[in-house]
Amino acid sequence: MKIVQIEATCISLPLNTDLNISGGKYNRADRVYVKITTDQGIYGWGEAAPIPQYAEETMESVKFIIDKYLAPLLIGQDPMNLAQIHEQMKVIKGNNFAKAAIDFACYDISGKALGVPVYTLLGGKYRDKVAIGQSIGIKSIDHAVEEAHKYAEEGFQSIKIKIGIDPDHDVKTVGAIRERLPDIPIRVDANQGYRLEQAIHALSRMEEYNLLLIEQPVPKWDLDGMAELCRLLRTPILADESLYTIHDAVQLIKHKAADIFNIKIMKPGGLYPSLKIAGMAEAAGIPLSIGSMIEAGVGTAAGAHFAAAVKYLEYPSDIKGPTLYSDDVLQEPVRIEKGFTYVPDGPGLGVEVDQEKINHYKVDL
Ligand SMILES: [Mg+2]
Repeated sequence: MKIVQIEATCISLPLNTDLNISGGKYNRADRVYVKITTDQGIYGWGEAAPIPQYAEETMESVKFIIDKYLAPLLIGQDPMNLAQIHEQMKVIKGNNFAKAAIDFACYDISGKALGVPVYTLLGGKYRDKVAIGQSIGIKSIDHAVEEAHKYAEEGFQSIKIKIGIDPDHDVKTVGAIRERLPDIPIRVDANQGYRLEQAIHALSRMEEYNLLLIEQPVPKWDLDGMAELCRLLRTPILADESLYTIHDAVQLIKHKAADIFNIKIMKPGGLYPSLKIAGMAEAAGIPLSIGSMIEAGVGTAAGAHFAAAVKYLEYPSDIKGPTLYSDDVLQEPVRIEKGFTYVPDGPGLGVEVDQEKINHYKVDL
């Protein structure tokens, strides 16, 4: 089987809420949907979910890299040979989100060609559904408490509170939510917002409210700081932004700079390298949470297949992008209900893209 066409389409989807994190605020999601067609008529879909406030890629850069560099390299290649697809793509440095979209589409094609779900290609599944939490952006204490309560009522298994701009406000917000919801697991995510001294001070106070985990308290490059917090605090420290590539995983393990890995399949360039990170984490005894770049339907399906196939998924995951959108681009949405995302079962990614929706939300650059 050979790839004959790679089409990258930029779309902009409306979110149903403003997202405000340490790093920026946004209310639309720019996504790139990638359709790869083969000489056997089998096609697959991928998605890139660049959030410029978080990653070094944009919708524009993803489309440009795919159209100008990746597509010409990959036309004529066998999409089922993921190892070689990734080798070829190494000619272009970085741009992992663009590569992830190609990776998802190749897995989708491979599954369809073999008549099996993508999780089978990843080794099979440990679970049929994935526990997810819901996130609360940085906002007034009253609004944060109200929102936390609403999510708990909706059945989410945990609450993730965004922190990292004002330590004092953060401690008060977490305290107020804990008072209202005495039993819900709370994770806090600073998105690299604190300096080490701020982190030590704020988080040692915050720990009193019984936290499930602390996500990326200090800048991604500060592995010494991460390691110090792992030693000082009793709450486990989760590496998110510090963990992009398979090489980052090695550094985090060497520095003892993370108690938990947050694998986002977009960051290392797709499912193939993400599986390698999961293997390293398993060998090092580091449990996982599977994050997301709040992908729309296709990326969410890919995340669900991945979360099904990894062993030590011990913490709530973030595979919940579609809950934050006013609309999606699938014919049938990925099932997300009462705090769980269900792993699709059809061949490939197990979802079908609605081409009319892609046309409707298309952005011309
Ligand atoms: Mg995070």
